[in-house]
Amino acid sequence: MPKVPSRKRPCCICRKWFLPDVRQKKRQRTCDNPECRSEHHRRQCAQWNEKNKESSKSNYLHKKLEKIRKPPPEKDFSPPVVRMGSIPRCRIRPILPRDIVQLEIGTTNLIILDYFAEQLLARIRRNPTDYI
Ligand SMILES: [Zn+2]
Repeated sequence: MPKVPSRKRPCCICRKWFLPDVRQKKRQRTCDNPECRSEHHRRQCAQWNEKNKESSKSNYLHKKLEKIRKPPPEKDFSPPVVRMGSIPRCRIRPILPRDIVQLEIGTTNLIILDYFAEQLLARIRRNPTDYI
């Protein structure tokens, strides 16, 4: 069977024409530039996260809570132990005595409170006029 040569196509990021790799000529969307590839990947992930908003938020919170829990030893069905001492990081960097808050409400509740604050702040930043 004769090989059909690939046709040039524009990169979906930089719009420069490129020759797709023969093995993925129908799927390749960007040129060989690593910046275009990583930007395309970033956009695809953002699109996926937007489409799967609920599950990606749930996964984020679940992973954050899992970090503070110690996995139970095999064949032990007791509830996971919550480690105290280290203060979990928060993306919005609140100016609060987080160590005292953590002592009072516990690490799990602090993480959930941080998460709600992050979500609320992100929503306000997206549509500031809705909250004035
Ligand atoms: Zn490109």
